[in-house]
Amino acid sequence: MNSIIDPHKIKQFEAIIHNAALILIVPHVNPDGDAIGACLAMKGVLDNMGKKAQVIVPNEFPDFLQWMKGSEQTLDFEKKTAEAQKLFAKADTLLCLDFNDAERSEGLKDLLRNFPGRKVLVDHHPNPEITCDLVISYPEISSTCELLYLLFEGAGFTPYIDKNSAEALFTGMMTDTGNFSYNASNPGTYRIISCLLEKGIDKDGIHSNVYHTFSEDRWRLIGHSLKDKMVILQEFRTGYISLNKEELEQFHYQPGDTEGLVNYPLMVKGIVFCALFMEQEGKIKTSFRSKGNFPANAFAREHFSGGGHMNAAGGSDTLPLEKVVQKFEALLVRYKNELLSSF
Ligand code: 5GP
Ligand code: MN
Repeated sequence: MNSIIDPHKIKQFEAIIHNAALILIVPHVNPDGDAIGACLAMKGVLDNMGKKAQVIVPNEFPDFLQWMKGSEQTLDFEKKTAEAQKLFAKADTLLCLDFNDAERSEGLKDLLRNFPGRKVLVDHHPNPEITCDLVISYPEISSTCELLYLLFEGAGFTPYIDKNSAEALFTGMMTDTGNFSYNASNPGTYRIISCLLEKGIDKDGIHSNVYHTFSEDRWRLIGHSLKDKMVILQEFRTGYISLNKEELEQFHYQPGDTEGLVNYPLMVKGIVFCALFMEQEGKIKTSFRSKGNFPANAFAREHFSGGGHMNAAGGSDTLPLEKVVQKFEALLVRYKNELLSSF
């Protein structure tokens, strides 16, 4: 049933959990549904095993994930730095979930790197660059939550998955596949969903909590982005949206408001590559999505100090927003052949 994950790694994971006294669980910065889902499910399972554990997030996560059970007990490193530092000094085990590089934990990166206890990575991003005692990395699995379920199953932990943890796992599987619209063709994914449904999850309720709870401002920002800001360059099969600080302020931007916005240009016929550029404090955050075999992650890595998956990647740039857009458009000329031949 569980043929993907190396049984030796499952044994090591099991032993590390059994021997742990205080476990810290950390996701990447700007945590998404998969990152938060994995952390809360992990915490729920550890609680039910009678293990002491704490989730520490590098920064705030969006409203549409805060309905999840246990989210109120997470510790925000930006707001409670001293408390988090104390926990890092006391803990013996650290679980890094849904990221492949200490840099991605932003403010927590030095605490992560210097952590003297046992470190475990559970992730699905390619090429992990984080030093850990145990690296459980499967880029072929579409979400960390799916991977975590397989790990729980292999380690015999499924009896400890309660309804809340099952809902957290489902949330990650759903959000990392765009509600099962991409990277979602593996039959194993649906076997797991079936197991989660057996745990009593409210599947339709989760969908509604995540996708149907936008603020009015969020919809207006999407409207503005699509009507006035989306640029479609059919000659490069590319589209992009850029948003400056004033626009974000005009629509009272909250974390998570632009989640999914990057994808809209890909819904235009013929477009295979798209980007979102957002002006933030001291940098421009860049997001890239692609269809087919155009590698968004290599593009992000080479030109925007980032990385990610083949079809979903991100990074940042220190140039002003207009220059970043100019740089992007100039790069498209270099990639024209690959963009035109992408299938
Ligand atoms: P998003 O565009 O939603 O912020 O990120 C999409 C994916 O790109 C993430 O799941 C993550 O894998 C990757 N990603 C985003 N930003 C960065 C970054 O700054 N560095 C790296 N290495 N990966 C990133
Ligand atoms: Mn993920």
